[in-house]
Amino acid sequence: MTNELGKSMNRGLLIVLSGPSGVGKGTVCSELRRRHADLVYSVSATTRKPREGERDGVNYFFKSHEEFRQMIADDALLEYAEYVGNFYGTPRDFVERTLDEGKDIILEIEVQGALKVKEKFPEGVFVFLLPPSLGELKQRITGRGTETQSTIDHRLSVAVEEMNLLYHYDYAVVNDRIDSACDRIAAIMTAEHCKRERFLHELFEELKQMTPVENGSER
Ligand code: 5GP
Repeated sequence: MTNELGKSMNRGLLIVLSGPSGVGKGTVCSELRRRHADLVYSVSATTRKPREGERDGVNYFFKSHEEFRQMIADDALLEYAEYVGNFYGTPRDFVERTLDEGKDIILEIEVQGALKVKEKFPEGVFVFLLPPSLGELKQRITGRGTETQSTIDHRLSVAVEEMNLLYHYDYAVVNDRIDSACDRIAAIMTAEHCKRERFLHELFEELKQMTPVENGSER
């Protein structure tokens, strides 16, 4: 049962971890998952080719363009975005089922997709990961070593535009150290679980049951 804000003490949290390319979303997300075994991870679909060591169904569901288009047509994606020539999307059913089961789920996605999720799930928890400085961000994008120069240049200009979207988020977390960033996100999750809105509906229902009937003998 949910209240008007779509929050309920029985429903899981939808945590959206986003931020500019190269800020370290993937690393922070992996560490969070390592620390919180009960935090469910939403595996995205993508048309990008697997990088070395990546496994289908674990890192991503690797799809052909044809398969991805079909997922869009079937309305099977909660959101999708084109990013540096490839498509990325969040399978919808898995997210909804996980939340209904009362489990917290984390989406590690780029900013355009995050904004689309916000339209559909305004009650989600939107966390923007910031680089310690812009110089550091450039260093991280350039230093990954797996991309061509033109891809790096493109990623840099995209990253600058992405930084402007911070305004739409609930929280900003500086990724100065992975440990500290994870501590802060864990604190955000704890605070979100304690939000009054999550309790209102159920508690008032319970209170109504407990309130003595008029002229009752319980006083
Ligand atoms: P990469 O190719 O480096 O794995 O990911 C590129 C970007 O796509 C990252 O910023 C990552 O967060 C984002 N991404 C991964 N999965 C999704 C998704 O399902 N939807 C959206 N919108 N972005 C995603």
